[in-house]
Amino acid sequence: MRTELLTILRETDGYVSGQALCEKFGVSRTAVWKGIRQLRESGYVIEAVQNKGYRLISSPDILSENELMSIRKTEWAGQEIRCFPVVDSTNTKAQQLAEDGYPDGTLVVAEQQDAGKGRRGRSWESPRGSGIFMTLLLKPQLSPNNASMLTLVAALATASAVTEQTGRPAGIKWPNDIVMNGKKICGILTEMSAQTDYINHVVIGIGINVHNDSFPDEISCMATSLFLETGKHFNRAALIEAVLERFEHYYAVFRKTEDLSALVHEYDACLVNAHQKVRVLDPKEPFEGKAMGITPRGELIVDTWESRRLVSAGEVSVRGVYGYV
Ligand code: ATP
Repeated sequence: MRTELLTILRETDGYVSGQALCEKFGVSRTAVWKGIRQLRESGYVIEAVQNKGYRLISSPDILSENELMSIRKTEWAGQEIRCFPVVDSTNTKAQQLAEDGYPDGTLVVAEQQDAGKGRRGRSWESPRGSGIFMTLLLKPQLSPNNASMLTLVAALATASAVTEQTGRPAGIKWPNDIVMNGKKICGILTEMSAQTDYINHVVIGIGINVHNDSFPDEISCMATSLFLETGKHFNRAALIEAVLERFEHYYAVFRKTEDLSALVHEYDACLVNAHQKVRVLDPKEPFEGKAMGITPRGELIVDTWESRRLVSAGEVSVRGVYGYV
């Protein structure tokens, strides 16, 4: 009942009468009062006025199933939500849930990750309450060869959601980092379990630095948070909802062609590397060139002056020649 109670309080402009809530849920006034008390205990500020009813004044910045479900507007993303205080990694947790039969669109969220993952065995700094650590589970009917493009779809969704929620432009450092003012606010890690021609599941992990006021020395030159960039504390649940809504939109576009052909233009408009000199840290042979944008398959087009090279995301990182971007 708490999710529905929250939804009604949110959607009502003004007060909701206790009687209306009793009728809606078919419960006693005491039961309604108990629900209100539990919400207050979780940090919601709810005003109660005699003869008028209840009014939601403010919501805490908590990541609970109730909170996320009560603001959910998406069709399938987040149809099941599991929130945890601590996990090793939300991707690992989502993979376990996938094996346990959780459906396409399941969302895993944690307040803290003890072993947050980055690409190629790297780690993702995930201190308690500082940010968003979320993973969306997909069970798509898609060729496994096309799944790596989902990282770019998620990057576009996240950059667009962050820009919308903060009012500050968030860009994409190809292929999967979201940056603000040249520093990284978000990383995305896509992992897949597949047969030769069939995907069992894909998990898309998104870590966003929201409230952090500092970072460990090793990453402080490249990492930043929404708080550090704007001086404001943003509501994490609202940001998660915005990411899911944007993801649903871009994913639907992607599914039509199973590539990024209809998204190249929008992705390139967010690409902070576009028309910049970049260093491609290819383990075989690093090289420099000018990044020109992406192909419909998500490769980065790099003009090396001698030739035009297409870089696939798998094994490489890209840096600006003069800094992180
Ligand atoms: P890059 O191009 O920065 O090398 P990548 O895509 O190869 O990025 P990711 O997997 O996205 O790497 O992220 C892991 C790296 O990000 C870590 O090695 C570390 O340098 C940095 N990092 C770890 N935690 C954070 C964080 N919370 N915020 C920003 N950067 C972080």
